[in-house]
Amino acid sequence: MEDNFDLLQSAYDPETFRRRGYELVDLLANYLGATLNGKDPKTLRWQLPEEQYRQWSEDAENGPHTDPGELFGGVLAGSVHLHNPCYMGHQISPPAPVAALAGLLGDFLNNGMGVYEMGAPSTAIERVVVRETARRMGLASSADGVLTSGGSLANLTALLTARSVKGGAEVWQHGHRQPLALLVSEEAHYCVDRAVRIMGWGEDGIIKVPVDAHYRMRTDLLEGFLQSARSASKKVIAVVGSAGSTSTGSFDDLEAIGDFCQKHGLWFHVDGAHGAAAALSDRYRHLVRGIDRADSVVMDFHKMLVTPSVTTALVYREGNHSYATFSQKGQYLWSSDEEAEWFNLAKRTFECTKLMLSVRAYSIIRTHGWEFFQQYVTRVIDLGRQLGAMVLAHPALELAVPPEGNIVCFRFRSPQLEEPERSLLNERIRQCLLEDGTFYVVQTRLKGENWLRTTLTNPFTTATHLEELLERVVELASTKVPAKG
Ligand SMILES: *Cc1c(COP(=O)(O)O)cnc(C)c1O
Repeated sequence: MEDNFDLLQSAYDPETFRRRGYELVDLLANYLGATLNGKDPKTLRWQLPEEQYRQWSEDAENGPHTDPGELFGGVLAGSVHLHNPCYMGHQISPPAPVAALAGLLGDFLNNGMGVYEMGAPSTAIERVVVRETARRMGLASSADGVLTSGGSLANLTALLTARSVKGGAEVWQHGHRQPLALLVSEEAHYCVDRAVRIMGWGEDGIIKVPVDAHYRMRTDLLEGFLQSARSASKKVIAVVGSAGSTSTGSFDDLEAIGDFCQKHGLWFHVDGAHGAAAALSDRYRHLVRGIDRADSVVMDFHKMLVTPSVTTALVYREGNHSYATFSQKGQYLWSSDEEAEWFNLAKRTFECTKLMLSVRAYSIIRTHGWEFFQQYVTRVIDLGRQLGAMVLAHPALELAVPPEGNIVCFRFRSPQLEEPERSLLNERIRQCLLEDGTFYVVQTRLKGENWLRTTLTNPFTTATHLEELLERVVELASTKVPAKG
């Protein structure tokens, strides 16, 4: 028996762990320094999927390798560098170093969070973080909620709560007796559509309200859509507002949606996965005016609050509603199933086992204060608006919509260029940027046409970086424009 134990003993050797840990932190600290000060200018070292796969399958075939440092270094080298000020791509943000350390702590302790004793500090911290988040959104002290694994899951969870509260209590027991539906803007994140279909409401259960020229929900159309749904014997139970939308970062008028929901007794859900964080900025809180009237709000800490992915707050105006989400018996877990026990978190989340999410978010709050979030959110929205103004002033570039937040969509244009050539050209510009690694931006389709899409998410991006991006786009366009005729 003894001779089969050596691997286990060496794997858990405290001194080996200490050494590797220091090496990893050195690696990351060096990366952070080099990428922030421009010594390592690449946001990404592009490799085709097959090349990448060949490299790692060879690595696996030749293993095991005793030094994890090569693995850590290799993953670092091949990954997108969010801490690089020229990273302006997807909505996730460069994690605050302290929050990444908190993530390591959570990974190491691995308490499962389902019941109180499996994560006593992180369970209590979760309550602190969620309640304080709710307070800062302007919600009353009855507000409460949970942290969960991502905005998509949080939106589904909130809509299940809405169904329990507004859809008739029998649904959980007997399924749907009447077709249910909700109203949402056509620009909403696709996870809302998925949530509706997962709940079994089908295509007819999601009523998509058109948007205005700024990609905001046409709230003036809500009344008409509600009446025609009712004429078709659908039971509309909720309206989902986007704060902001994923493609263009447009903020729906939450006050108007709140009025509408109040008038008709509907559940008011705000998908603020991206932009609810604006509530933490004195300068930009107005973007989410009305959020305090929502029955439920989703906010991703990994998007505009520099926390490692995925860490999402799901807040309810009436905290007790969260216990209605899963009207399911789980007595083997909870000593008293009927009681609303805030400290047994799995009563209110999809997750049974969950990461120790609260420690990551709280490590930032405790170390740097909420003022840190205010500075971050204000800074990246300032940057978004600055880029918007620069594009607007540029003769060869065009803005999809004046940015309200830190998402900016633009494209190269010229009078001779028409669709679909213009879309193809912008797609190629984006591919060149990806492959040369200078700037990381993504793309989106709006009304069937391609746009370059940026999310200003690195607070160390400056006006000079923005100017260089625009120059580079124009330069690529002029070298890649297909000859006419
Ligand atoms: C990103 C996003 C989501 C999805 O959140 P995940 O955390 O990626 O699951 C949902 N809604 C909006 C508006 C988003 O921007």
